Amino acid sequence: MSSLLFPSAETDGPRLKHPDASGRFGPYGGMFVPETLVTPLLDLEKAYREAREDPAFQEELALLLKEYAGRPTELYFAERLTKELGGAKIYFKREDLLHTGAHKINNALGQAILAKRMGKKRIIAETGAGQHGIATASVCAKLGLECVIYMGAEDMRRQSLNVYRMRLCGAEVRGVESGQKTLKEAINEAMRDWVTNVRSTHYILGSALGSHPYPMIVRDFHRVIGRETRAQILEKEGRLPDELVACVGGGSNAIGFFFAFLDDHDVRLTGVEAGGRGIQKGDHAARFEGGKLGILQGCKTYILQNEEGQIDLTHSVSAGLDYAAVGPEHAFYRDQKRIHFASASDQKALHAFRECARVEGIIPALESSHGFAYALERAKELSSDKILIVNMSGRGDKDVQEAARVMGEL
Ligand SMILES: *Cc1c(COP(=O)(O)O)cnc(C)c1O
Repeated sequence: MSSLLFPSAETDGPRLKHPDASGRFGPYGGMFVPETLVTPLLDLEKAYREAREDPAFQEELALLLKEYAGRPTELYFAERLTKELGGAKIYFKREDLLHTGAHKINNALGQAILAKRMGKKRIIAETGAGQHGIATASVCAKLGLECVIYMGAEDMRRQSLNVYRMRLCGAEVRGVESGQKTLKEAINEAMRDWVTNVRSTHYILGSALGSHPYPMIVRDFHRVIGRETRAQILEKEGRLPDELVACVGGGSNAIGFFFAFLDDHDVRLTGVEAGGRGIQKGDHAARFEGGKLGILQGCKTYILQNEEGQIDLTHSVSAGLDYAAVGPEHAFYRDQKRIHFASASDQKALHAFRECARVEGIIPALESSHGFAYALERAKELSSDKILIVNMSGRGDKDVQEAARVMGEL
């Protein structure tokens, strides 16, 4: 089991050449941070590279993933949905079944035990909708670490239940009042805290984003999703799937899901961004459709911004996809035409949210529903001997009230 966590350079081959020594995925990624953060980031990279080679670290993480988070997650054949659509066979990878309700706990656990190993007893994190905050607060309770979560004041108001859940787990939740009072400002505040308290503190970043080494570390802790999927589909179908689909906010669930298949060129990989109310400035979060190359929060990548480099407002019905930048590794594989991108509108995501519940009795997170929106249409285009797997990155319990409000059903 433990050897499955981080397969060697031998089995993972050339894909592990990225990021390169300077933390870049081709022209993307890198370490665009204030001078004071360079040493802490390099220390983190060194500690991480040592940890991942250490069998004791791997065993500790493997046990926590199994007994605390609930891995492995099922690969579920959606038989009724498949029949109803009349095309490709559809499977769901059930990350929604994990403790705290989404894939985010894979990374929170990995980084928290890395922090302990580095002798850091205080954890900080940012959160938008609250999913990463809850995963981090839970893991800190479990491991006896002090925990401070930064959250935009506007997000705290919208997600008051999640704020309460974090506080129940012993975390201090600090509201951020600057700017739009949402995720971007919360990240700035967390970085400020980290600069000041770096000796005692580890910053658990929540997606495959930000400065090197975070995109690599977060990706690696989520690679378990794709490794399990690969073994499970080979067991169930005796062959690899034809297409994998995942929603892309920062890109952590998607890259974790895709990574084990990058060298399987017959497996199409599709990331789905938030198309919001439509692809007009301020109404969406589809960075590859309306974005330009730029630098945001430590990382060079596609960003929604104006001519002067001011960050655009973004919109999505799902808070977890509502961010102006996309993870650098996705930009890299998009250039190589290895990962394809699509977007799904709020309306299509809400339709998929409802269909999935109605036909399979499983309510996906609104984020994951963007992947389903694409998959519902795609499956119909494919013949019945094809196999399509959708990553159900999280469960929709957190979203039912918002979905009902938006669909006008309250
Ligand atoms: C946070 C979140 C996402 C978006 O983040 P990625 O880093 O792109 O995976 C997607 N789905 C769920 C359920 C989330 O909580």
